[in-house]
Amino acid sequence: MFRNITASVSPPAGSRPREGDLYRVVTTFGKTFELRYGYYDDIDRNGEPDIIYPDFTKTPVYAEKGEPFVTMMQDACERFKGEGKRTTDTTCSECRYFKRGEEWFGICTCPKNKQADSQP
Ligand code: SF4
Repeated sequence: MFRNITASVSPPAGSRPREGDLYRVVTTFGKTFELRYGYYDDIDRNGEPDIIYPDFTKTPVYAEKGEPFVTMMQDACERFKGEGKRTTDTTCSECRYFKRGEEWFGICTCPKNKQADSQP
């Protein structure tokens, strides 16, 4: 499952973001992503919109050498390696294979998660 972001930016009153507004264009590990404000779930629509990150579990994107992109708030996979055991609350950001990029983006450096037909 993809986790909601709980640490979105809080802009000054009067310039509150609206759904669809551009937050930032981020280039990291050779790929460019457009981050816009929105809602992960309809139940969140009573509050301010969040910065929406891609769901890489649904639509994988790979860096040049085949490492899959992940986000810091993405649920850890079965190959998680970190302090303690993986639980339902464990995220990629706690994993030794996580390499952070810009904003909340990162790549997974686990050799077993690498795209099969990528260059070494
Ligand atoms: S960083 Fe990679 S190996 Fe670690 S939990 Fe995330 S996807 Fe799994």
